[in-house]
Amino acid sequence: MSVRISPDKCIACTTCVVHCPVARVTPKFLGPRMIGPAYERFRLLGLAEDESLTYCANCKNCDITCPQGVPVSSINMLARAEHCRKHGAGLRDWVLAHGELQAKLLQLIPAGLKNFGMLNPVTRKVLDMLGIDRRAPLPPFAPKTFRQLARKLEQPSLPRKVVFFPGCYVDVYDPQTGLDMIWAFNRAGYEVITPEKFGCCGLPMIANGFWKDSRRQAKRNLAELARWREQGIPVVTGCPSCALMFRADLPEFFPDLVEKYGMGVLEDAQDFLLECVERDELPLDAAPAAARDLRIIYHAPCHLRAQGNGLPGLRLLRHLKGVTALNADAGCCGISGSYGFKKEKYDIAQEIGAELFHTVRESGAAFAASECGTCRVQIRHGSGKTALHPVSILRMRLEGRQPSGSQG
Ligand code: SF4
Ligand code: SF4
Repeated sequence: MSVRISPDKCIACTTCVVHCPVARVTPKFLGPRMIGPAYERFRLLGLAEDESLTYCANCKNCDITCPQGVPVSSINMLARAEHCRKHGAGLRDWVLAHGELQAKLLQLIPAGLKNFGMLNPVTRKVLDMLGIDRRAPLPPFAPKTFRQLARKLEQPSLPRKVVFFPGCYVDVYDPQTGLDMIWAFNRAGYEVITPEKFGCCGLPMIANGFWKDSRRQAKRNLAELARWREQGIPVVTGCPSCALMFRADLPEFFPDLVEKYGMGVLEDAQDFLLECVERDELPLDAAPAAARDLRIIYHAPCHLRAQGNGLPGLRLLRHLKGVTALNADAGCCGISGSYGFKKEKYDIAQEIGAELFHTVRESGAAFAASECGTCRVQIRHGSGKTALHPVSILRMRLEGRQPSGSQG
């Protein structure tokens, strides 16, 4: 691993420290300035790593707020990868980093049996000993993956095409959100292609220190993206973390691959649909007359805010007739992918998300909405309210159904 990022742009202003959700709730983490640019200088001299590095959640709030544009989270993830290369990573972190691979290995086992095997109290106790907190809201496997369902789905033949990158959360745990996405694109006049060659974006691997595995995913995904780019077909995703990984992390971590295959851009599916609405290609004011007024509270994932692209999911919801969509604007939910599942981090994650959970509970909203799958899991766990992807709410609304509350 040869990539390093210079810490020299840091002027020690401590803005990032004020906005770091982890440093706010625990003294176990020395904070972004210390663990990022300050410690990087020691690392470059070959001095020992500080163990509190493992407490960085890779939420990117430091990057969002740094006036100098220091990519603190990337400095941290590179340092973590180097630490894991030298000292090895544990089994718990391997399990949390490779959800897609596990789903593939277990694909012949029926979902009911898998979920019983993974989520019964005895297994949870074993997982707890392994370092996955027994209270953590691990999502159950879906009976069929999104890709299996999409393969059998009959779409109308439409002249305009769009490629959909589901991300592993939608593929393995929440295929309904992917199907809702296809429905919305079909309605906007696009046939949706779901290539088999795309895999996990590699972010869970980076966050857990598995550099080589993330690089392998980057190579595979960038090659596939280049194929669609050459055909002039846009590639979209509903997951902000996948989009951010391609937009910001891959060029920083794997510049040689980006040079070889070109910049891989996943367009924000919500933004894409919003443009369709603004061109009158996707009418959203056509909710059946019987649909009751609906109050929704929306949570913006940190990885969406880090892209500086506004809140297209919230804007989509606000186009829906009879829907009042509030912006929770209550900071990070705490989960950061699988961070909040870890035994030593579960309580930290709950404390980080406490303000959001309170805001959601007190909002009087029927449902919460967020683009990120694990944010939805965490919101439901912390607030007791069902959380759905904005596009799922859009579909239910336009079909005249009330959200069923079954999705994570
Ligand atoms: S990525 Fe998040 S947890 Fe890590 S240092 Fe930055 S703000 Fe703190
Ligand atoms: S990383 Fe950025 S925000 Fe943090 S102390 Fe340095 S200059 Fe300030």
